[in-house]
Amino acid sequence: MGIKQIVEENKEFEHSKFLDELRSKDSKLNFMRETVEPEENNGDLNGVPFVVKDAICTENVVTSAGSKIIEDYKPVFDATVVKKLKKEGATFYGKTNQDEFGFGTFSTNCAFETPKNPHDSERVVGGSSGGAGAVVAATDYPIISIGESTGGSITNPAAYNGVIGITPTYGRVSRQGLIDYGNSLDKIGVLTKTVYGAAKGLEVISGHDKNDQTTVKGAVPAFSNNLEEREDLKIGVPKQYIELEGMEEGVRKNFEESLEFFKDQGFTVEEVDVPLLDADYSVAAYYVIAMAEASTNLARFSGIRYGMEFDTEEYSDFNEYFSKVRTEGFGEEAKRRILLGTYTRQAGYRDQYYVKAAKVRRKIINQLKEIFQDYDVLISPSMPNIAPKIEEAESMSPEEVYAMDTLTVGPNLAGMPMISVPNGTSEGMPTGLHVIGDHFEEQKILDVAYTFERGEKK
Ligand code: GLN
Repeated sequence: MGIKQIVEENKEFEHSKFLDELRSKDSKLNFMRETVEPEENNGDLNGVPFVVKDAICTENVVTSAGSKIIEDYKPVFDATVVKKLKKEGATFYGKTNQDEFGFGTFSTNCAFETPKNPHDSERVVGGSSGGAGAVVAATDYPIISIGESTGGSITNPAAYNGVIGITPTYGRVSRQGLIDYGNSLDKIGVLTKTVYGAAKGLEVISGHDKNDQTTVKGAVPAFSNNLEEREDLKIGVPKQYIELEGMEEGVRKNFEESLEFFKDQGFTVEEVDVPLLDADYSVAAYYVIAMAEASTNLARFSGIRYGMEFDTEEYSDFNEYFSKVRTEGFGEEAKRRILLGTYTRQAGYRDQYYVKAAKVRRKIINQLKEIFQDYDVLISPSMPNIAPKIEEAESMSPEEVYAMDTLTVGPNLAGMPMISVPNGTSEGMPTGLHVIGDHFEEQKILDVAYTFERGEKK
């Protein structure tokens, strides 16, 4: 049974069975931050279950963004995306674990529990929306799992868990109620089992929101109804991506097979040179911008208006108190990003780092826009590897971890939509195919993913 059957054939959803399954799988794999009892809900989605990344506000339900500093925060409101899902008749089941404030690639920077991969519990689930990907793979029922990507956090867990993950164009989906990582980069999207489910979920959460002035006006396309198999598109394969050093053989092999599929289907497939997608530009610019924005966003967590508090009487001045709260409340990666982010935007260094990175970002956007004049979509492997072992991930240096994002940060910096679709396995673990489109071309990437999904089943 899929989301399509539930929605179109009005199938009764077995909530108590799903809750039992969710809780029993979670007790072994830790993908949930909190599970809630489902409430009766009517509407077009006919009770399809949904879960939400911990960084997205949910009324009266813990929203801690994976961080100890706001461990007990229970918002008094639902984020716009949550409101929209409830209004359409989806049923809320709880929050999923993630890297603290989205800072990470494996969900090993979560202040609570490290989620484990449903395909092999010794391996990571990816990040930062790691719990969001794992819950889809772990449960047999269809589910809409709401994730968020700043630099690849939907694609990555989708690939590592063998599920679909769509990251929309920046501005397509309201960020109201999201605890921001980097405001110019953050995008809320959907992880689920089928391309239809991704199209449906995206359609429900998209649209202009007066509470987020970066959202675009205009009607939301009927992505799910419009889905169609295509055979006439022109696909570009970025040279910088396929030549990436360190790409695992199994990943490469699956990707090459997918190219054959598209050629057989009638698509034109060509290698394209996109020099600025090289890690020297994209990863460097991404981490400067993301950390600069993160460090300003985290300034509010000072133990006064939000989160962790201590007895102020015991501290002689504000600085001492503030340092105590932030020392206790933030994890190591958050602290690293506060330091680096503050450094790159301070007077004297700003031009050399932050402003330069912003210029590189503009050039990346221009270069990709130019490529999309000639090509309908770009494709590549979603991640250069299969999900590493938890131990292995924890022993990597920050630079090694950041390099894992080479395939995803470019399109994320450009605010372009992307979808990761399962593409076979390597060593028993899933690998993903990444389809990237021009701004607001979600339908095209969904169609390419749909064509691929149907082809896999034939
Ligand atoms: N791994 C990237 C980072 O740590 C991306 C994470 C994200 O998209 N939230 O910034």
